[in-house]
Amino acid sequence: MLMVPERPPDNAPKTFRLSKSKYLSGLQCQKRIYLEIHEPELAAERDEAMQALLDRGTELGELARQRFLGGVLVEADYRHRTEALQRTQDLLRDPTVPAIFEGAFEFDQVLVRVDILERAGVTDDGTATWRLIEVKSSTKVKAVHLNDLSVQAYVLTGAGIVLSGAYILHINTQYIYKGGEYDLLQLFALQDLTAVAIARRADVQARLPEMRTTLALPSPPEIEPDGHCHTPYECPFWDHCTKDKPVRWIYYLPGGDRAIQQLARKGIQTIDEIPAGVKLSPAQHRVKNNVEWIGPGLKAVLQTARYPVHHLDFETFMVGLPKFPMTRPYEPIPMQWSNHIQTMDGEVDHHEYLCMDLKDPREELALALLQSVGQEGSICVYSPYERSILERLGHALPSLRRELQGLITRLWDLFSVIRDHYYHPDFQGSFSIKSVLPAVVPSLGYQDLDIQEGEMAVLHYCQMVFMETDWVEKVRIREALLRYCERDTLGMLELRKALGEKTARRY
Ligand code: SF4
Repeated sequence: MLMVPERPPDNAPKTFRLSKSKYLSGLQCQKRIYLEIHEPELAAERDEAMQALLDRGTELGELARQRFLGGVLVEADYRHRTEALQRTQDLLRDPTVPAIFEGAFEFDQVLVRVDILERAGVTDDGTATWRLIEVKSSTKVKAVHLNDLSVQAYVLTGAGIVLSGAYILHINTQYIYKGGEYDLLQLFALQDLTAVAIARRADVQARLPEMRTTLALPSPPEIEPDGHCHTPYECPFWDHCTKDKPVRWIYYLPGGDRAIQQLARKGIQTIDEIPAGVKLSPAQHRVKNNVEWIGPGLKAVLQTARYPVHHLDFETFMVGLPKFPMTRPYEPIPMQWSNHIQTMDGEVDHHEYLCMDLKDPREELALALLQSVGQEGSICVYSPYERSILERLGHALPSLRRELQGLITRLWDLFSVIRDHYYHPDFQGSFSIKSVLPAVVPSLGYQDLDIQEGEMAVLHYCQMVFMETDWVEKVRIREALLRYCERDTLGMLELRKALGEKTARRY
C-alpha cells in the first residue's frame, strides 16, 4: 500500500500551480518549464504529425477504458478545474463506481488527471483502495513513464487516496489481430510498477521546490541546448534556443552526443574550432573539412550496380490499432512503392503502386512489385529499410517468399555508397536523402511537393483510406503521395548519375 507522503516544508516556494506535463517538462529541462509558463508564445507550433500522435494516444486511451466496465468519465476539462476536482470526489464516494476515468486530483499545488483509477478493495478500517493505471500508446515502459507514474502517485497519496498499486497499460506488440472487435485483454499489456512509483515519490517532493525556485527567477535559466532537448520529448523551444547558434555549430557534428558534449564543455562552439589532435570518425572528418570529397573507391563501387538498375522506395504505415486481420500493433504495412528503371543505354521507365482501398494491400503490392522489378538488375535503395520490408512481406506471404527473398539478394544500397565514398558541404553532416539530394542535384529537392516527408505521407494515406474523405480530396492526396514517392526514386537515379559524372570528370 502506498502511504501518504509528508507535507512539503512550509518555506518551499509555492507560487506556481503545476500540472503533470509541466512537471515532466521541468524534469527534461528547467528552462523548458520556465518558458512554458512565462513565455509559451516562443514555442514552435505543433505540426500535423505531432497532433496525429496525440490523437492516437487519445484514441487508444478511450479504447483502454472499455476494459473497465462501468467506469465513469470525469468530463470537465482543464478549464474547469474546480468542477473536475469536485466530480472526482463525488465518484470516489460512490461505492457503485468501479473505475474513474480522467479523475482530477491536486496536492502540493500539482494537478493531475489520472487515466484510470480502478477500485481495488477496502482496508481493514473500511477505506477504499485504488489502482492507478496510466495508459500509454507505446510498446513498452519507458523511463519517462516512471516519472509520470511517480508524480501521479505522489499527488494521489498526498490527496488522501489509498493506492494498492501503480501500473502502466501499454500496447502489446505480440497481439495478432484476428479481425472484428479488438481483444482488449490481448491488445494491452499491464505492467506493475508499484515499487518504482513508491521509490520515486521522494524525488517528486525534492524536485518540485527546485522547479518553483526556477520559475520565480526574473529570466529563464542559462541552459545550453544539446541532446537533452530531444529526449524524452522534442522540446518545442528548440528553434528559439538555437536561433543565434552559428551555422557550423558543434552540435551539428554527426556522431555520439557524448563526444560532442565533451567538445562543447571545452568551450568549442563550432566544428571549425575542433583542434587538429581530436579523434574524429571518418564521417566527422569530412564534416570538419567542409569541402567536397570524392573517395578513391567511388567509381568502382558505382560500377557494381547491374543494369537494368531499379530504384525502389516503399512507403509504409504503422498504427497501434491493427487495421487488417493477422497484423500486429505497429507492424509496418507497405501501401505504396515507386520504381525508376534505368537501362544500360540510359532509357528510364517508371512504375508505381499505391493502394487506395480499405484493404490489406500487401499481396497486391508484392505481386505488382515482382512484375515491375522482373528477374534482372540491381535494386537501388536508400537505407536498410526496404530490405526489412521485403523480409516482412516474405514472412506474411508464404507463397511469394522465395521470389521476395530473391529481390533481397539484388539490393544495392546507395546510402552506404554515399556515406563511405562522398561528401558535400551542403550535407551539413546529414546523409538523409532529404539533405543529400538537393546538395548533389540542386534542381531536384522536395520543396515543390505537397507532401515533403514520410510522416506526412502516412498521415495523408490514413486520411485517404481510413477516414471519411470526399473523392476530390482523395484524388488530391493520391496524386501528392504518388509524386512524393516518385521523387525519392527519381532522386536516387539522379544521384547515381551525378556521382558517376563526378567520377568521370575526376579520373
Ligand atoms: S530547447 Fe533545450 S535548452 Fe531550450 S528549453 Fe528546450 S530543452 Fe531546454
